[in-house]
Amino acid sequence: MSNVDELEIDKFSQLAHKWWDKDSEFKPLHEINPLRLDFIDRHASIAGKKVLDVGCGGGILAESMALQGAQVTGIDLAKKSLKVAQLHSLESGVPIDYRCVPVEELAAEMPASFDVVTCMEMLEHVPDPQSVVRACAALAKPGGWVFFSTLNRNAKAYLLAVVGAEYVLNMLPRGTHEYARFIKPSELGRMTRHAGLELHTLSGMAYNPLTRIYSLNDDTAVNYLMATRLPAA
Ligand code: SAH
Repeated sequence: MSNVDELEIDKFSQLAHKWWDKDSEFKPLHEINPLRLDFIDRHASIAGKKVLDVGCGGGILAESMALQGAQVTGIDLAKKSLKVAQLHSLESGVPIDYRCVPVEELAAEMPASFDVVTCMEMLEHVPDPQSVVRACAALAKPGGWVFFSTLNRNAKAYLLAVVGAEYVLNMLPRGTHEYARFIKPSELGRMTRHAGLELHTLSGMAYNPLTRIYSLNDDTAVNYLMATRLPAA
């Protein structure tokens, strides 16, 4: 019944105290954050909007969206991460409503409630990503935006996201990513269609290991972002 891998939640709980350390295992998320925030805001102009961040972790994206003027709710199932997120939002004076609830349960509790739903770097950690995509769509208001990002599944993604990041550059702890759970853009496209969402933009998010700089471009081979929209009523 439950769509959660407890080992995944444990992995993130153990690292929870490091969420806001920009030189920690979470460095890549801090580095890509301005890019994805800009991608989201360009499509959905989030100031004043009701935004839900699914799998929010320590709140890196959630806080940045709140700073941009959005009214943000963040959900995750790792309690320690949520605690860190809550403390950080108190310290920085950026109010965010953090809740420990499965996305499917929230969708049943308050369907069609958010102007924008974001679900970043989370689908590759759950047993049934289609169920998460469906719940995200159900939580969006008619005409609302739903954003996803995840890792593509091919030899290059395996080499860069697993071998490179976990074994060569030691950017991420070994075992952070399970290759079989990576999702091809065509597969995510199908999941979003099945959930009634319309694909708006697909963008690659590439890391250059030489310059150590991330950028948004057409190269969806490894990490990618998808902007989708629920048709207006
Ligand atoms: N979205 C954040 C964090 C990505 S890390 C960001 O991009 O900055 C992946 C997050 O997904 C972790 O916080 C982990 O606890 C969460 N997660 C994993 N499985 C989950 C599930 N079934 N339900 C909710 N959150 C989950």
